[in-house]
Amino acid sequence: MSSERPPEAAPHADAPRATRAAIIAVGSEMLSSLRQDTNSLWLTARLEEVGISVVRKSIVADDPEAIGDEVSFAARCADLVVMTGGLGPTADDVTVAAVARRLDMPLSRNEDYVARMRERFARRGIRMPAVNEKQADFIVGARVLENPRGTAPGSWIARGGKEYVILPGVPSEMREIMEARVLPVLRERAGRIRASRRVLRVSGMGESAVEELVAPVYAKWKDDPVTILASPGEVQLHLRIVGEPEEAARRLDAMEADFRQALGQRVLSRDEDLASSVGRHLRESGLTVAVAESCTGGMIAKLLTDAPGSSDYFLGGLVAYSNAAKVEFLAVAEETLRSHGAVSEETARAMARGARERFGADLAVAVTGIAGPDGGTPEKPVGTVFFALARREGAEVARRREFNGDREVVRLAASLYALDLVRRAVADA
Ligand code: ATP
Repeated sequence: MSSERPPEAAPHADAPRATRAAIIAVGSEMLSSLRQDTNSLWLTARLEEVGISVVRKSIVADDPEAIGDEVSFAARCADLVVMTGGLGPTADDVTVAAVARRLDMPLSRNEDYVARMRERFARRGIRMPAVNEKQADFIVGARVLENPRGTAPGSWIARGGKEYVILPGVPSEMREIMEARVLPVLRERAGRIRASRRVLRVSGMGESAVEELVAPVYAKWKDDPVTILASPGEVQLHLRIVGEPEEAARRLDAMEADFRQALGQRVLSRDEDLASSVGRHLRESGLTVAVAESCTGGMIAKLLTDAPGSSDYFLGGLVAYSNAAKVEFLAVAEETLRSHGAVSEETARAMARGARERFGADLAVAVTGIAGPDGGTPEKPVGTVFFALARREGAEVARRREFNGDREVVRLAASLYALDLVRRAVADA
């Protein structure tokens, strides 16, 4: 095969480093509700590691015109196009022929490869069906990417200053070929350049509030992509720099410092989740904590005890769901419940005090609220949660929040908010 390779069609190890990639998933099944394209997630992570940014991802049907159009478009946005799927022997496997037609490159059957496929079938005691021969059709000049796990080989083509890597759709086959044949070349071309990442976790505020605070920092670092991701109770800022590791670390430090300045104490330690951050702060300060939970039903205790070694600082928790339990186990006064209701600041304060005393903890956090879907009132709609934090020396903090979302989202957001109150109380101590 290599002897008939025209020079311009072969990818060279010393070709310039690609910086922008497009990924195309070929397969009509991924346009239905039956299958998801997961290959592109894996590919994106691997390409980033070698300093290549994915600028476009798409899914196309097993249709030569659609594949051709997508290839043309992808090549306008990117210098490397990675395609997966449609390399099988059946009539709907048309990727290679579609790429050849669109790039105006001839196909030729590699008889050596046909013989090798026949041998593989023979070893399994099966006669190779004639349709499989099609899998030995390669674009003339392409580098053949052997597939040790299946019959569909990949190929790698250079054309018009762009490169095209065509891989099978079966995830395990696609990964193996990428790892063995493609990534080593891309890594070699990248030299010491790679993408370095840092994740800053921001707690206690929503996505739009975070965006507002960091808008000037965004503007300052506009050439370096920052992704903002929201999940219940937490917003993550993903900082990413492509370059040599030392230079990337310097720039990430500078970016992180700017974001921390804009967000202050709301930034948890980087790359650490809220429960671990609370745990670390408690351990470092030698303080202990207890919890009193109503609507979160034990979720705060669960999050706190997810961290190994949490017995150093977590003394225990009480799930006091009924009024009677709040009175009996947390010493909440019946009068407080009668005049303010179970979901109120006063009850939350009394629960926190009760839990702190009962467990003999330095701090206690309490939560009472309406997780829904029923139980809301005009003054206290579904999602209303009261929090209180009691300290040994008597100082208390109380907060009211209204969370949006279904029961699970409200419970998780409330649990994380409670943890954040503890984190801030310890950081202030
Ligand atoms: P083969 O002939 O070895 O099956 P192929 O390239 O023709 O290879 P497809 O027929 O397109 O692969 O897909 C084979 C399997 O891989 C299917 O189960 C399909 O759902 C899965 N698959 C294909 N593309 C993807 C993708 N992008 N993400 C996840 N799974 C995929």
